[in-house]
Amino acid sequence: MDFDYDDQNIFAKILRGEIPNRTVYENDYALAFEDIAPQAPVHVLVIPKGAYVSLDHFALEASADEQVGFMQAIAEVCKIADLKDGFRGISNTRAHGLQEVPHYHMHILGGRPLGPILVD
Ligand code: 5GP
Repeated sequence: MDFDYDDQNIFAKILRGEIPNRTVYENDYALAFEDIAPQAPVHVLVIPKGAYVSLDHFALEASADEQVGFMQAIAEVCKIADLKDGFRGISNTRAHGLQEVPHYHMHILGGRPLGPILVD
């Protein structure tokens, strides 16, 4: 499968500093910032700094350092947001997942009971 990355996507612009964001945490490999349209009291997006379109692209092609750095960023977000009562990580992917922004991101949602995983 080809993973074509569009460097004009909104998260690429955030990474380049062309669009502001409310940063929660940053390390060498990942940036975490508040979602602009939060769906829960805590709604943070964690994105890799590398050019990956989706979770499967990242898992296949990111280096070990990038993958560890990304996971460590998620752990830091959970600490910063005090998600000891739990949370949900969601990574919408391509058409069936209703992915809107074609730069891999993990939604970290919490701060209240979140209900069933799928509603349609
Ligand atoms: P997706 O549907 O791709 O999984 O989610 C994309 C998310 O990005 C949505 O929850 C949306 O609110 C968020 N989003 C879109 N544009 C911006 C933006 O410019 N800034 C921030 N912080 N979040 C954005």
